[in-house]
Amino acid sequence: MFDSLSDRLGGVFDRLRGRGALTEADVRGAMREVRIALLEADVALPVARDFVEKVTEQAVGQNVLRSVTPGQQVVKIVNDALVEMLGADESELNLGVTPPAVVMMVGLQGSGKTTTTAKIAKRLSGGAGGRDRKKVLMASLDVNRPNAQEQLAVLGEQTEVATLPIVAGQQPVDIARRAIQAAKLQGYDVLMLDTAGRLHVDQALMDEMKAVADIAKPQEILLVVDSLTGQDAVNVATSFSEQVPLTGVVLTRMDGDARGGAALSMRAVTGKPIKFAGTGEKLDALEGFHPSRIAGRILG
Ligand code: GDP
Repeated sequence: MFDSLSDRLGGVFDRLRGRGALTEADVRGAMREVRIALLEADVALPVARDFVEKVTEQAVGQNVLRSVTPGQQVVKIVNDALVEMLGADESELNLGVTPPAVVMMVGLQGSGKTTTTAKIAKRLSGGAGGRDRKKVLMASLDVNRPNAQEQLAVLGEQTEVATLPIVAGQQPVDIARRAIQAAKLQGYDVLMLDTAGRLHVDQALMDEMKAVADIAKPQEILLVVDSLTGQDAVNVATSFSEQVPLTGVVLTRMDGDARGGAALSMRAVTGKPIKFAGTGEKLDALEGFHPSRIAGRILG
């Protein structure tokens, strides 16, 4: 991940650092190359454009070019802008409400939504090697895909997290109601709702999500996106964030060879932080998202 972007930027910065003095034209030339490198990494066009404009303005506007180490300073400006683009702060889940806190997972089919639901539940519950000690209940509202509810039940067993018993034929909104009632009655701290995915964004999916959100009133609505889908991931995030009040994003398959564009664009297009990164198929392959660490990896 980020390897080719990192190589490209490394080349640009080596050339900048290699010179004692820098002119405005040098900076503008370098920033043109940065823009191309970002676009080749699948960063969304408006995001790449804004990034380059902002960095250029800072680099030529202040006393950077007259400083002793202008190249170094420009690289620092790029680093800070990258961290800001990635979301600056590390974001935790916001579960500080009267229990049960509801976390609703949304996304396309195959994005890794069900796996991620179980990963987060495991992390919160402390079950099977997880970290915290919350009492977590998971429920699948996916009545479209055969065996989706059973898949979550199996993951529940693996992670030692409770799942809502399956009632055949029940519809998503009714399952959500039953899940909330069960979570309240049985004293759960967190209820995780795994909603149905679709192959593409469509209105029926959005309407179903809205109906569930209306009755479940989630504290968190996390969009799960596959980082390997690059520019498509950005389009999916844009569509979802226009329709439901997302609170954060989880990027999956960060262990793959994604070029990084999804990670870099997500904050700008959704306005919401990336809260977790999926880094493998195993149920503990979930990491908090650390913008400064990622910026460091990109800049080498
Ligand atoms: P859903 O249709 O969105 O619920 O997707 P699933 O949770 O069923 O995941 C689809 C496939 O992606 C499964 O084989 C998962 O093991 C795999 N998967 C999910 N997250 C990750 C990840 O972060 N890295 C890798 N390598 N595979 C993942």
